[in-house]
Amino acid sequence: MSAASPSVFSRIVSGEIPAHKVYEDAHVLAFLDVGPLAPGHVLLIPKGEFATMDAVPEDVAAALGRVLPRLVRAVQSATGAPGINVLQNNGKVSGQEVMHVHFHLIPRQAGDGLGYRWNPGKYAPGEAEKLRDQLSLLLTDPA
Ligand code: AMP
Repeated sequence: MSAASPSVFSRIVSGEIPAHKVYEDAHVLAFLDVGPLAPGHVLLIPKGEFATMDAVPEDVAAALGRVLPRLVRAVQSATGAPGINVLQNNGKVSGQEVMHVHFHLIPRQAGDGLGYRWNPGKYAPGEAEKLRDQLSLLLTDPA
């Protein structure tokens, strides 16, 4: 939990500011994004305030993950969107503006003009193996 002033999303959780809530349980809340990239753009948040994903406890992450498929189905069904981007900006450099972890569910339609640059690169010789080894080690021994 943050000792600083509560995030705008914590203020939605507490009911201090309004939102169009679509789902709520003991751990998570989902509501319409106030500035939708498309109608039906939903945000899913943990009720507890964690700035970025690396700070989220595993049980809270599990609560978020548990509801995601249901939310995706509901958003697709309500909007008729044949696809959805599930997006989580993590850290200011990635475009995160509200420092309270959230997943965007953005309904997509063919030719909707949404999207972002996706320019695949290539690994230099040995680079992928080095990263694989670093990541494997960190994930085996997270301390
Ligand atoms: P991000 O850039 O990933 O941090 O996204 C923050 C999102 O929060 C933006 O899409 C905003 O439109 C949305 N947002 C900010 N304030 C509110 C609010 N009071 N109610 C609903 N959505 C909000």
